[in-house]
Amino acid sequence: MIAMTVIMVILIRFLSSAAVDYEIKRELRKGIDANLFHISTRNGKLKISENFRYQDEKVRFVIIRRGGKVLAGEYPKEAANSMQKIFIRNKLSRCVVCNGQKYYIRDVRIGKIKVKNKKSRGIFMRGILKKSDADSFYYKIEMVSYISLVGILCIILAFEFIFSKRISKELKDMCHTAESIGTSLDMSQRMRCDHQYKEIAVLANANNRMLDRLEQTFQQQEQFTSDVAHELRTPVAVVMAQCEYAWKTDSEEEYREVLDVVYRQSKRLNNLITKLLKFSRLEQGRMQLRDEMLDLPEIVVSICEEQQEKAQDSVLIRLNLKDAVTTGDISLIAIVIQNLVENAVKFSHPQGEVEVETGGQGDEVFVKVTDHGIGILPENTEKIFRRFYKCDKARNAEGFGLGLALSGKIAEKHGGRIAVKSVYGAGSEFTLYLPKK
Ligand code: ADP
Repeated sequence: MIAMTVIMVILIRFLSSAAVDYEIKRELRKGIDANLFHISTRNGKLKISENFRYQDEKVRFVIIRRGGKVLAGEYPKEAANSMQKIFIRNKLSRCVVCNGQKYYIRDVRIGKIKVKNKKSRGIFMRGILKKSDADSFYYKIEMVSYISLVGILCIILAFEFIFSKRISKELKDMCHTAESIGTSLDMSQRMRCDHQYKEIAVLANANNRMLDRLEQTFQQQEQFTSDVAHELRTPVAVVMAQCEYAWKTDSEEEYREVLDVVYRQSKRLNNLITKLLKFSRLEQGRMQLRDEMLDLPEIVVSICEEQQEKAQDSVLIRLNLKDAVTTGDISLIAIVIQNLVENAVKFSHPQGEVEVETGGQGDEVFVKVTDHGIGILPENTEKIFRRFYKCDKARNAEGFGLGLALSGKIAEKHGGRIAVKSVYGAGSEFTLYLPKK
């Protein structure tokens, strides 16, 4: 604001002095041109009509001969001497300083006259205007400009005051909502968006979008905590019940049974904790991925042999392996493939078949696991990648619903993805794609 005022004052000063200069020169020229009609030279003699004016408001006119001698009219008394010495320059208006005062002068040639020794000499009309005489009028204009400037500044300040009051009211409103969310932790609250000022409405909208995301994250967090608690509760309850049972019995056989159950439940807990830890490390980027050579057919063979052994005759795993080599973390990629094969076996019908295929496609390599089992409903194909999601809890009582969430994260960290195609009741096809390196 201060800088703007200074700039405007400088501008007014500059423009007004330029206008004064222009106007004075124009007045001089006008006065001289009007007076030229009343003066002439004929037969070497100067003729001045009675209408010739030696003083026209503020302009004074003097007839001078080349050399400076005054033939008619008078210079201003206080500057007569210095003015006589000023060089004649035809039709040029200029500002000169005589005796410390500024004068505007303009010389215009009238003609020639004969002087004593019969020689012709040029004569000129000189218009003289004292700058201080003209200034008083222009000074008024300048003052009006300054007063207008002060008026404009006052109006701007008044508007600024009104606007800032309104804007600060709306901002206070937003702060109030933000604080209320902070203290009550009620993430369902939103900021008002029907603001008078578009910019504030945009800000409120952006804040609301952020609140939407925060609310979603909080809900996921809450869901996650309750899912973990739920998954932990069952094995812990089983272990406690088994211990209580063991305290009451003396039979060695029953002890062994109890130990067996406790071991299986502990293994399950360990499995859950390991998966959760891996998942959170991957999510937070705290896990360093190793850059090893991945021979996908080789990994597939070792996993499928183990799975076939576990499945025995209930499911037959067929392999169709073509070259597929890339780089990545073998232990993590093995987790993905194992999860896909395990699921395919788990959700196959008895005596079903699972096909595992490897190969290359464009700039990717893939491992495709196809089963002809229960399949997945279309609305669930996205949900199965969420943590703790199980389509059919009864069919997958053993699982935690963490396998695909972890597999998806591992694929993502390797720059790859997992694609799903499934027909409910007919089977599923899960394909892990990894970039070729
Ligand atoms: P888990 O670790 O318990 O096996 P996943 O995350 O691997 O769980 O799978 C999540 C859910 O996706 C499973 O509970 C199951 O409902 C569904 N699912 C996964 N693979 C298949 C498949 N091949 N056929 C049918 N459903 C499947």
